[in-house]
Amino acid sequence: CSVTEVVRAYLDRIQRLNPQLNCFLTVTAEQALKDAQDYDAGRKSLTALPLAGVPLAIKDVLCTKGLRTTCGSKILEHFNPPYDATAVERLRAAGAILLGKTNMDEFAMGSSNENSAFGPVRNPWDMNRVPGGSSGGSAAAVAADLCAAALGTDTGGSIRLPASFCGIVGLRPTYGRVSRYGLVAFASSLDQIGPMTKDVRDAALLLSVLAGHDPKDSTSIAQPTDDYMAALTQPIRGLRVGLPKEYLNEGVDAEVAAATEKACRIFQELGADLCDVSLPHTDYGVAAYYIIAPAEASSNLARYDGVKYGYRFSEARDLLSMYKESRSRGFGTEVKRRIMLGTYCLSSGYYDAYYLKASQVRTLIRQDFLRAFEHCDVLLGPVSPTAAFVLGEKTQNPLQMYLIDVFTLPASLAGIPGLSLPCGYTSQGLPIGVQILGPHLGEATVLRAAYHFE
Ligand code: GLN
Repeated sequence: CSVTEVVRAYLDRIQRLNPQLNCFLTVTAEQALKDAQDYDAGRKSLTALPLAGVPLAIKDVLCTKGLRTTCGSKILEHFNPPYDATAVERLRAAGAILLGKTNMDEFAMGSSNENSAFGPVRNPWDMNRVPGGSSGGSAAAVAADLCAAALGTDTGGSIRLPASFCGIVGLRPTYGRVSRYGLVAFASSLDQIGPMTKDVRDAALLLSVLAGHDPKDSTSIAQPTDDYMAALTQPIRGLRVGLPKEYLNEGVDAEVAAATEKACRIFQELGADLCDVSLPHTDYGVAAYYIIAPAEASSNLARYDGVKYGYRFSEARDLLSMYKESRSRGFGTEVKRRIMLGTYCLSSGYYDAYYLKASQVRTLIRQDFLRAFEHCDVLLGPVSPTAAFVLGEKTQNPLQMYLIDVFTLPASLAGIPGLSLPCGYTSQGLPIGVQILGPHLGEATVLRAAYHFE
């Protein structure tokens, strides 16, 4: 069939299912059909580019030129960026067709997608459950076939968690492997962009397009990228798979634990060598992250003052009340909570007790991983202690919500790559995800392990 037919089929599905799922905040139907016609009329070649004609969705935290970029926030409801994020530019240059922008927790703060100013996304496997967050719109859109693949961002698990709740593949690359230029900043030392896909091969393909040095991002890694596609089919026999004992503690739901153990046996059958490892500082990840991320967020979000970007309260009496009213009306509850937490931690006299201490813990967590990777090639564990939970279950208790991130935060703090992939179902038929972690720049090994497992 023609590219136009494919794009139209996706657009039809979006039109039919998005009113219930709420995955897309903006749909670019007209432009997508125009792009498709370029291929069908022979103005663009279908064979020359790696993503020629592939319909993708983009999390609404990535800047798209002239196209509304809300970050799931009222404060940016009408913000049209003047440029494309490097990741978006690379996808376009690779021939992809953009279908639209996906819903997310406000400024990527959340684990359930219930913090969006535009309403929650629903999990396509069970409409009463959350899709996971913060890239919940992207995850649900891929799972429900509203796009072929999507981009997400992962500051503290926001690619891996929704991927596992929605039964798809999600890859957080090494910090700095994909340019953050044009990614609206949440916590700059943690933010990473990555693919959310139907399978591991697609994740490798998208990473090949996204990865690489970008002079516009000073934290982007200059080292050349690997051939992620070729790595998939390299043998897996003898691969050393470490099982962190802290990742299968009492807090893990029995069905999730059983699925993870089954995944270990499958790796063994594939010829991998299993070994027990310890990541002793795992338990401190949540505390360290929820100091560092809000601290950086409080600083990054200072730019939304009603002057430079987005929403401005127009009836203010003076400058100060304009700042105050714009921010208090523009931001949602969780974002305000983070700004207050972060400002407190960074305030004069408290820096040493909070931010500095959390940064020291971060170093210990990083060292845990470095030590573990002396003995093994990848690590295997659950993505989260439970499968997708019911909407509203944790909204009244932020700490309960934060604890969902216990197994995704350490890799984020260490800056290492992590991939979430489906490994089974609960008795209620909800997908369960397993997480494969690799050393810095170990994406090729992580993808290879995942590909053989799949
Ligand atoms: N749940 C985490 C938070 O709320 C992770 C967010 C993310 O990775 N963007 O901060």
